[in-house]
Amino acid sequence: MRFSENGSKMQNNLFDELTGIYNQQSFFEYTAQMLDNYPDISFCLIYWNIRKFRTTNDLFGWQAGDKILIHWANTLREILGDELAVYARMDHDNFVCCVTEDFLNNSDWTKLGEISYFTGDTEYHFYSCCGLYKITDRTLPLSNMIDKARAAMETIKNNYMTLYAWYDESMWNALLEEQRMNSEFKTAIAERQFKVYYQPICRASDGLITSAEALVRWQHPTKGMISPGVFIPLFEKNGFISILDRYVWDEVCAMQQSRLDQGLATVPVSVNVSRVEFYNPALCDDIRNIVKKHNISPDFIKIEITESAYSDNPVQVLEAIKKLHAYGFSVLMDDFGSGYSSLNMLKDLPIDVLKIDMRFLDDFEKSRKATIILESIIRLAKWMKLSVVSEGVETQREWEYLRSVECDSVQGYYFYRPMPQESFTTLLDQSAEKSINLLFRDSEELDDSILDIFNHSNTLESILFYSMLGGMGLLEVCENEVEILRVNNGYYEAVYNALPRERKLINQPFEEPERSFILEQCRLAREGSKIQQFQLHHERKDGVYIWLSVKVRYIGGSAHRSLFLFAIENIDEQKRLEHERYRTNYSTVLLKLFDRVYRLDYSTESVELLHNVNKRFKTPQAQFSFPDFFKNISIVTAPKDFDKIELLKRKDSLDTLLAKEHTNCIPIHYELASDETVAGTTAYFFKAELPDGSEHYLCCVKRNS
Ligand code: C2E
Ligand code: CA
Ligand code: CA
Repeated sequence: MRFSENGSKMQNNLFDELTGIYNQQSFFEYTAQMLDNYPDISFCLIYWNIRKFRTTNDLFGWQAGDKILIHWANTLREILGDELAVYARMDHDNFVCCVTEDFLNNSDWTKLGEISYFTGDTEYHFYSCCGLYKITDRTLPLSNMIDKARAAMETIKNNYMTLYAWYDESMWNALLEEQRMNSEFKTAIAERQFKVYYQPICRASDGLITSAEALVRWQHPTKGMISPGVFIPLFEKNGFISILDRYVWDEVCAMQQSRLDQGLATVPVSVNVSRVEFYNPALCDDIRNIVKKHNISPDFIKIEITESAYSDNPVQVLEAIKKLHAYGFSVLMDDFGSGYSSLNMLKDLPIDVLKIDMRFLDDFEKSRKATIILESIIRLAKWMKLSVVSEGVETQREWEYLRSVECDSVQGYYFYRPMPQESFTTLLDQSAEKSINLLFRDSEELDDSILDIFNHSNTLESILFYSMLGGMGLLEVCENEVEILRVNNGYYEAVYNALPRERKLINQPFEEPERSFILEQCRLAREGSKIQQFQLHHERKDGVYIWLSVKVRYIGGSAHRSLFLFAIENIDEQKRLEHERYRTNYSTVLLKLFDRVYRLDYSTESVELLHNVNKRFKTPQAQFSFPDFFKNISIVTAPKDFDKIELLKRKDSLDTLLAKEHTNCIPIHYELASDETVAGTTAYFFKAELPDGSEHYLCCVKRNS
């Protein structure tokens, strides 16, 4: 006897419209009948979920999703055949079945765990997981039995290696615990049991705190501190999350308002927005209204949106991001790389900051592959002008690595754990001093006495630490000698583009001409008690010249000795571009000096007119062969120069001639007295050597008067 339908299309309301198998309502009805009719047979309840079904829908479209559901239902029908069973589609991608224990023991029903599906010529594989409940107590409501099977399924939903799980009582307790938490939520909000913790986010280059993330905890009266990983998924299911999120945003805004009103330092704080919020069209306005209520600028609140929110709801999320931008908020993409989103999707999303999921660092020590992926994400983000935060930084090695690949910011236990508001605001108060310590935390070059100078010098202003990135050190001026005493690692990176093995390169006094130049700048810095900034063409100890931008600040000393703090930046590339720009600009001006400029190409024996300023002398022709060009010149040339012209026609003889003339230039005078316009004109032949090593022969013509 079979209790499921026969595959023909639906009559009345018994069947699921899409798949044609029973729906939830008929499942209840026929299962109850079956259990009644067979009191001596042992039955089990199975609850299935198709894994990553939502992603499938996103990737291939809902029509494809529908086809898969139909295919899955058909497979279920085939496997159960004429068995004593009732099966149905519960909702979405969830299926249920009540079948004999005997069938489960003696069939290969587990092949439902992986089914393949062909579209066109491509084969796709779909995976499912299920929970099983052996019906021991037939007096239980059927809905309760289904809950039990579902609870078992939930325990392996994220465990891809496991196909099924049998229900046990502990799972039921978890379910009860969920229900209890749900029932306690309202009181918890009213009694302000939820606490906002803050985890600082640091600039990767030096560890300076630049922002923070707000993370909620539940300070439960009897159970103690509950982590958001436990209750957030729960509140996302029943919608309480939208109340909780607003509570958190409000707390954060209140904290910011209080700091700002008191004139205290603060940093922007990012808040999390649950993925389910994007079903709420009022989301962005709610955020804006909370910020407005506290009278703070949107600059102090940033919005974190998870990658999964985007893959659930791409259209809504995109719209929300645009709106949040219009309201003045920065938007961060959280947990990037944790899901199925591709790097490609980034180009469609106008986000400001990319937060890379901490799982990438989990594999840091083990897998070269993870670091390659990490590195390419960072590179791509840079290219797209996105700032990058790496989460979950737990070791110095991880930090160093992230710095080396130019990740902008870091967040993790190595720097700070999430902390209660009071600790966070205390930290903000001390942040200037803290940043000094952090700045040199791993610099072997700076010993304690130097740190003392940094910490106790009240002439030091935060600006030094905020704006002086990279190489830093201490410089001593004694009589007329200048010497570098200490440097940090950044110094070597700026000067040598690497950390040299031999770090003793610095302890030598500067020599002329650098010495007088630096002495003068230090004098200006000391007398003006200001930061003196200048550029230095510095000769390294290995003889290589580099351009540096230098800032010096006087920090103390005696009559004969002065100590300066300095910061340097390598501007070689900047200088090179600058010089190139000068050359281009100057050459336009220089060209204008001459009436006409020709370029002689000895390999093709042709001449090209590059420039002609004299309108009266307009030459329609811009290109000549050597014979024509030199013939034209010969006509107007003074007879004494005739011999020279012969030599100009060949490269080797011109080179010899140029070598003889110390002016590096061969002038040819035009002296046809009868023609006024030609009289008093000179053509200069010379060789121009360009920085790229190429040689060009030019002829520049200029009227003498
Ligand atoms: P998330 O947004 O990815 O937050 C980062 C999580 O990583 C936090 O967990 C943080 O404590 C933890 N973490 C930070 N540094 C490290 C580290 O170095 N190593 C390791 N292993 N973990 C680190 P937490 O506070 O337990 O929060 C978990 C998740 O709960 C958050 O993940 C976020 O998705 C959610 N959440 C937290 N607060 C809120 C909230 O107010 N609203 C919403 N909607 N979700 C929240
Ligand atoms: Ca987050
Ligand atoms: Ca995250």
